[in-house]
Amino acid sequence: MGKYIYMDNSATTPVKQEVLDEMLPYFNIKYGNPSSIYSLGSQSKNAVEISREKIAKVLNAKTKEIFFTAGGSESDNWALKGVAFANKDKGNHIITSKIEHHGILHTCEYLKKQGFDITYLDVDEYGLIDLDQLKEAITDKTILISIMFANNEIGTIQPIEEVSRIAKEKGVYFHTDAVQAVGHIEIDVNELNIDLLSMSAHKFYGPKGIGALYIRQGVKIDPLISGGAQEGNRRAGTENLPSIVGMAKAIELAYENLNENNARLIKLRDKLIDKILKNIDYVRLNGHPINRLPGNVNVCFEFIEGESLLLSLDMEGIAASSGSACTSGSLEPSHVLLAIGLPHEIAHGSLRLSLGDFNTEEEVDFVVEKLIEIVARLRAMSPLYEKIKEGK
Ligand SMILES: *Cc1c(COP(=O)(O)O)cnc(C)c1O
Repeated sequence: MGKYIYMDNSATTPVKQEVLDEMLPYFNIKYGNPSSIYSLGSQSKNAVEISREKIAKVLNAKTKEIFFTAGGSESDNWALKGVAFANKDKGNHIITSKIEHHGILHTCEYLKKQGFDITYLDVDEYGLIDLDQLKEAITDKTILISIMFANNEIGTIQPIEEVSRIAKEKGVYFHTDAVQAVGHIEIDVNELNIDLLSMSAHKFYGPKGIGALYIRQGVKIDPLISGGAQEGNRRAGTENLPSIVGMAKAIELAYENLNENNARLIKLRDKLIDKILKNIDYVRLNGHPINRLPGNVNVCFEFIEGESLLLSLDMEGIAASSGSACTSGSLEPSHVLLAIGLPHEIAHGSLRLSLGDFNTEEEVDFVVEKLIEIVARLRAMSPLYEKIKEGK
């Protein structure tokens, strides 16, 4: 053994060697504060602006529309709180969905306490929102629609183009939490009519603790972090220089070979799904069969606890997740799996295997082999499963 199989790429990804190499000089050689006027400082300022330009180019945004943050959660908080407070003279209504990341859902709970009205759209069995329900939910008080690009648990990709068209027709700002999509799916903020977009580098082989918010020029938004004049006076704090440089390198690498990488990932993903469904009974695939992230596999095994499954996989050197990283550790099943209509007992037996650039076919075969053994072993301890088998 001795090998370790990492299939939790939706939780985080390793920093690629090329990214790390690019970052290292900015810790102790090119370490100047970008706000300092001497050359060590202006060299840093330059590096920040070149990075901003690279990220903007990939998304077809303007350079000055990219604002660095400390990651996806901060970007989500900023988009929602910033737009809510800056536009409260226009209205107090925000529309989102029931399957958003907690970065959105918990921010909405906070805004509700501040007097904002939140509508949570339902999703169907595949995790798709209903565009008619969205249209009906819009009132003359609606200031913002926030719908995630792709779901972190079940991988479902939303009809973003249609959502933004509806928002535009009604003159409402549209924000998307694209943390699972950036670096994995082609995104053009102009073609898709996106006003605000959250991204995070550690989901595409960049460092943790760095992200960005795309803010379309002209969008009215308050700052979230007050202080110095960094980021065009809109996000204070000395820039996280090595991470900014790393994020730009990572996004460039991600889009260099996107189509080939995705073709490979989709093949691996579908092989993994097919083998699980063929070899194990009482199992269901969660998420959309086609409109899903290239690396996402999410299944529920009946008569099994997801936590026990994870521990058994870990003993075989396999890293995966059940529900989302933030909900595991609590006994509540994932809000996403409940929203697609799964009963509690089935939602508890969920497993997410998220594939990335470093996974191989051999790993897929090995994981399925181990899953078959583990599921059989765990079910042998389930009286309910035994009873159902005898009844067959
Ligand atoms: C990971 C994730 C976040 C949070 O990003 P951080 O950089 O970890 O704060 C937000 N939304 C989605 C969809 C995510 O997958």
